[in-house]
Amino acid sequence: MKKIGIILILIIILPVGFLIFNEIGKLNDTEKVLEETYKNQLEAILFSVNQYSDDIVNSWANKIIEIKNDRSSLRNFITDNLAIKSIFSLTKNNFESIHFVFDKQTETQSDSIRKLIGSLLFANENLIDKLFEYQKSGYRKLEPLNRDNLSIVIFTNQNASGSDELIGLAINPDLFVRKILLPRLQQVSQNQFRIVIRDSNDRFIISSDNKEFTGGVESEKPMWLLPQYKVGIAFAGPTIQDLIRSRATNNILLIGVLLMILLAAVVFVYSAVKKELELAQLKADFVSNVSHELRTPLALISMFAETLELDRVKNDEKKKEYYSIISQEANRLGRIVNSILNFAKMEAGKRKFNFEPTNLNDVIENIFQTYSYHLYNKGFKFEKYLTDSLPAVRIDSEAISEAVINLIDNAIKYSNEKKEVILRTGISDRKVYVEVSDKGIGIAPDEQKKIFDKFYRVSSGLIHNVKGTGIGLSLVKQIVDAHNGKIELESKTGAGSTFRIILFPIQIIEGVF
Ligand code: ADP
Repeated sequence: MKKIGIILILIIILPVGFLIFNEIGKLNDTEKVLEETYKNQLEAILFSVNQYSDDIVNSWANKIIEIKNDRSSLRNFITDNLAIKSIFSLTKNNFESIHFVFDKQTETQSDSIRKLIGSLLFANENLIDKLFEYQKSGYRKLEPLNRDNLSIVIFTNQNASGSDELIGLAINPDLFVRKILLPRLQQVSQNQFRIVIRDSNDRFIISSDNKEFTGGVESEKPMWLLPQYKVGIAFAGPTIQDLIRSRATNNILLIGVLLMILLAAVVFVYSAVKKELELAQLKADFVSNVSHELRTPLALISMFAETLELDRVKNDEKKKEYYSIISQEANRLGRIVNSILNFAKMEAGKRKFNFEPTNLNDVIENIFQTYSYHLYNKGFKFEKYLTDSLPAVRIDSEAISEAVINLIDNAIKYSNEKKEVILRTGISDRKVYVEVSDKGIGIAPDEQKKIFDKFYRVSSGLIHNVKGTGIGLSLVKQIVDAHNGKIELESKTGAGSTFRIILFPIQIIEGVF
């Protein structure tokens, strides 16, 4: 059985365990891929927001280059685009030559702003040189420069006369994100995400859903043109982590349930196989027990018959004794064969019962008369206590007799020094019963249920020496069941046993009692 248990565990639990580990491993891989893909997607969205800002400012740059010599067009342009504060230009590397085209706030060419821009450009001289180098290779780059509240974007240009100039525009960052970026953010997010713009101190500026945002973001990038701002993305509903976690929890729960079912199946298969093996073992024991049971009376009969046949016994009394042994053993043989046949019939459901209203006392009295000689001979005290006026029961007398005789047989077999068998009839709880009590070896509590199973024999201590087939009590139980009765057992190891067959009187069945 241990081997079978181990094999079952190996062939069921191991593959399932492997599968589960594999699944969990795969789950982690999938989660990683999913997370990576999501991260990439989020970054692509943030990239597109930056690209869009770049495109807007690029289109402004083109327009400025186109109309820079026409003051009134420039004035209109700057008025139309609220986010542009001022536009300026200067010849290459001559930061003193800043020429204010227009400044929306002051409407004048304010000296302080001119100075501020001048010093900012001066501080970024190298960068500006690079921009001109790019221009030589035919590439115009927008470069943000920031100081205090000033956000400017500069780019290079070659004017009609072929000389290089630097053009810049000061941007109102707040208006830029609110008026220009926000509609774009709303379009990109499509209510699936929240795209949030915050400043470098994580102070909230705007969000694509126009609501205040306080939580954390999944991914965040600085804005190319307004580096003092960051654009971030957050989930509108549950986060990807939430989704993955709930999926993982569901999967693990499912696997847990599956494992439980498999374990239950293993336990079921194990106990079924165990039962079958035990039954096979019991059957094998039964065959050897039956052979043994048959061999003993046969040996006795043939021995005594032979002795008589050879006329070796001169004494008449001895002869009589031998004849009686032969007859007793023949009876025993008959009983064994009968009980095996009856058992087989019962098993096949072919035994017919002949139920008749009967007084149980008559049946017991009959058994007592037949068996008292046999019991006294074996040194037993054999007594009967029959309760008068028992209500009639509808029974098959022969079958009930067979059951009671089986119980008496056991009482004899399983008694030691204290040889005492008592038959008792009575009424209890409006039912009729017959009891067979002995003062024998008794039955341990954990064996008491099993002894009614077919072929089962208690296999400890003394009992090994006692012959039997293991079908006696199972036959008794089958007979009692066929009468819709009950069999009860009260037993204590070393003190004796009482088997009680309980039957329903006819009055109870017919509602008179
Ligand atoms: P068996 O042929 O072995 O007697 P039974 O089915 O009649 O088979 O009984 C099953 C087992 O129950 C016996 O092997 C014995 O261990 C136990 N048993 C039955 N009757 C008694 C009893 N009166 N006292 C003690 N043990 C009993």
